[in-house]
Amino acid sequence: MPTCLNVTSELRHLAFGLLLGVLSCPAVAQSPVPSSKPSSLLLRPAAVFDGETMHADWAVLVEGDKIKAAGPASQISAPAGARTVELPGQTLLPGLIEGHSHLLLHPYNETTWNDQVLLESQALRVARATAHARATLLAGYTTARDLGTEGADYADVGLKQAIDQGLIPGPRLLVATRALVATGSYGPKLSVDVHVPQGAQEADGVDGIVRAVREQIGRGADIIKVYADYRWGKGEPSRPTFSQDELTLIVQTAKGAGRPVVAHASTPEGMRRATLAGVETIEHGDAGTAEVFKLMKQRGVALCPTVAAGDAISQYQGWKKGSGPEPERVQQKRQSVQAARKSGVTIVVGGDVGVFRHGDNSREAELLVQEFGFSPLEVLRAQTSGNARTFHLPDRGRIQPGLLADLVAVEGDPTQQITALRQVKLVVKGGVVYNE
Ligand SMILES: [Zn+2]
Repeated sequence: MPTCLNVTSELRHLAFGLLLGVLSCPAVAQSPVPSSKPSSLLLRPAAVFDGETMHADWAVLVEGDKIKAAGPASQISAPAGARTVELPGQTLLPGLIEGHSHLLLHPYNETTWNDQVLLESQALRVARATAHARATLLAGYTTARDLGTEGADYADVGLKQAIDQGLIPGPRLLVATRALVATGSYGPKLSVDVHVPQGAQEADGVDGIVRAVREQIGRGADIIKVYADYRWGKGEPSRPTFSQDELTLIVQTAKGAGRPVVAHASTPEGMRRATLAGVETIEHGDAGTAEVFKLMKQRGVALCPTVAAGDAISQYQGWKKGSGPEPERVQQKRQSVQAARKSGVTIVVGGDVGVFRHGDNSREAELLVQEFGFSPLEVLRAQTSGNARTFHLPDRGRIQPGLLADLVAVEGDPTQQITALRQVKLVVKGGVVYNE
């Protein structure tokens, strides 16, 4: 849990922050909150990572909620009334983009997924999610693709509205609402005699699927998420769920309404069907083969491998990382990611955060570098300009005049040391500084 969850001081700071147009977290607060929101902001870091490459001695000028200029510091001067922020020794990056989160979930080693879905009230889950949204933003993630409320209905739509209206701090959200599962394939599962609420919406066949997709879109889904495979019974391996025709119908229905479809899939057959149906990204892909990655590459389908989730779950199940032998699940993921890279499939960076702690989002980037052979630069590109491209967000992910002023400054050089992403010193979203 974030350290700034003391309710009294939280409310005091929230009210104070709202009053001044700036939200302040006591755990992060280092300097006084500015007395008014400046119309422009000149940021002078040691270097700027623009979403593609590093530039030493650059400065960035923000005007309103947009980037006005970016270039050599000597060529950018502060207009009258601008506030200049010196960021010595720091790298300024585009706000990071989380590719796979669940703001309505919290780590499974605190409460199992089943108990979160069945025993926690919607009010409790939403209250917790507001803290998760704040932790995500303060970790430097100014956008998040939130892939399913896991039993909390359409609560993500309300969360997104609360963030957009400035009621609570958080990232800009792309929400998937309830997600779609084939009847009987998901959970929680208790006794056969008891029907319990499921973690996603069950839908089947032509009428059922079309109605469910339209219903989710009508109630606020930016994305349709479908579970193309899952374990049908406890302890079973994953197997395909929806038929090819059903998946194709889901994509057609969503696409007509301008919504992309993403698929949870970890089996080669589930991945194959989802790819042929026309989904845009496949989440997890644990047992992906060279053959299916080749197909994904041909069809322009990206992989979000969520390596941090498997790593976390294996540890929750008793793996003593660093001393005990590596579980099969982790080995399999490494092989799958290697095969995906070899095939040239686009990699989306997203950790399935919620399985592990919100605010710890950079765990995915770290693992990809430290344990999966990616260079820091590859991961940084993927997590900024790359994710923005895959998610159809041309207004962000790079530092360029005219784009949204979503920026994060970290101590050191993350292109050399990916762990620098943890040293967040400044978070700006839409021109507003959030962590002073
Ligand atoms: Zn997930």
